[in-house]
Amino acid sequence: MLPEVLDTPQRKPVRELAQALLSDRLPTQRTLEVDAAGAFPGDVWAALGETGLLGLGISEEVGGSGGDVGDSALVTLEIARRLPSLAVDYVLCGMVARTIAEHGTSDQRAWLAGIAEGSRICAYGLSEPDVGTDLLRLRTRAEETADGWVLNGRKQWISLAEHAELIFVLARTSPPEEGRSLAHGLSLIAVPTDQPGVGIQRTHLAGMRAAGTCEVVLTDAVAPAGHLIGTPGRGFHLLRDTLNIERVLAACLSLGIGRGALDLALSYAGERSAFGRPIGGMQALQHGLADSAAELGAATSLVDQAVHALLAGTDATSLSAMAKLISSETSARITDRGMRLMAAHGLSVETPMQMFFRDARLQLFSPVSNEMVRNMLGEALGLPRSY
Ligand SMILES: Cc1cc2nc3c(=O)[nH]c(=O)nc-3n(C[C@H](O)[C@H](O)[C@H](O)COP(=O)(O)OP(=O)(O)OC[C@H]3O[C@@H](n4cnc5c(N)ncnc54)[C@H](O)[C@@H]3O)c2cc1C
Repeated sequence: MLPEVLDTPQRKPVRELAQALLSDRLPTQRTLEVDAAGAFPGDVWAALGETGLLGLGISEEVGGSGGDVGDSALVTLEIARRLPSLAVDYVLCGMVARTIAEHGTSDQRAWLAGIAEGSRICAYGLSEPDVGTDLLRLRTRAEETADGWVLNGRKQWISLAEHAELIFVLARTSPPEEGRSLAHGLSLIAVPTDQPGVGIQRTHLAGMRAAGTCEVVLTDAVAPAGHLIGTPGRGFHLLRDTLNIERVLAACLSLGIGRGALDLALSYAGERSAFGRPIGGMQALQHGLADSAAELGAATSLVDQAVHALLAGTDATSLSAMAKLISSETSARITDRGMRLMAAHGLSVETPMQMFFRDARLQLFSPVSNEMVRNMLGEALGLPRSY
């Protein structure tokens, strides 16, 4: 079941294109190999670029493939049903492209065609070893020089960094000012990776293994003056503009994981027998599957409302936060039930249930943690700010 707003005749060609590409390039066996090796599947990325699926949500005038955020949401969900870690990269790359399309100069917008084609990979460098949820306290600094910017600092958990041509680094360009938000003075700068000042080291993770997540060390790394996006000191504000979209896409990623895990659990329940009958006939397991289907349906409806709000241009802040929260908690529960239902086979690296189970964990704290989402929703309910 898809969010209704994504299940329209107009979006059918996008869905069919994504499904055909993914079933061709990512059959289950390949998915398991890619995940086990922690290898970013560059060929699939290139195919997403060639077919125009990477450029969705970015207008054709600036090098994208047109379409809207609903199309990006649909493709995110379809990718996540097969290989959630690739959907992480798809969402991040789309976020970078959106920011450039909306706030970039004409020179910066010239990067978009390559991003949409898949030939220019970009990463988002926000998180740091000591700073995640409290991003505004980040320590990376960028000093202005006659030619541009010199950056020093460490970024952690940066997906796609080892394949990226540019890392969009959030760095402090002016010191915090008393009485002003810490957001003031942070800037977003596109740092070229082909220089000695950028050290990139792969991080080995238990989940989202094919996302290509890395630590990035910036030691007098240089970026040309024209690589600062938007207005100096307003980098965090640019990101804030796209937060609702990011949360809705993260919610779709979770729905994809939930769908993939539920489909797998259902088919296993029909194949596996115990006490001379299929385990799917046992009421205890049926109840779990019924709960998973019902919860996925509820999360899908919430995502549907959030996408509607984004497309209508109405305030999507609470809806996108709720959609992110509920869909991630739902996919964590569905994958947990899937693991129990498949028992030893769930733990086997020969089926994707263990991958869905591990990958669903990221969704609980990224791109924003569910505790923080609850804080924000509490505040939106009129309660005192708790953070
Ligand atoms: C696979 C993967 C890919 C990633 N890709 C990227 C990427 O490409 N670019 C990037 O910049 N980052 C990326 N990240 C980082 C991700 O965005 C962070 O993990 C996320 O923001 C949470 O930060 P943290 O892990 O440092 O947790 P912390 O901020 O350290 O949080 C720890 C705990 O404290 C809780 N907490 C913190 N503050 C509060 C509060 N005020 N109230 C209640 N609870 C609170 C959190 O909810 C959490 O439970 C990635 C991470 C992973 C694992």
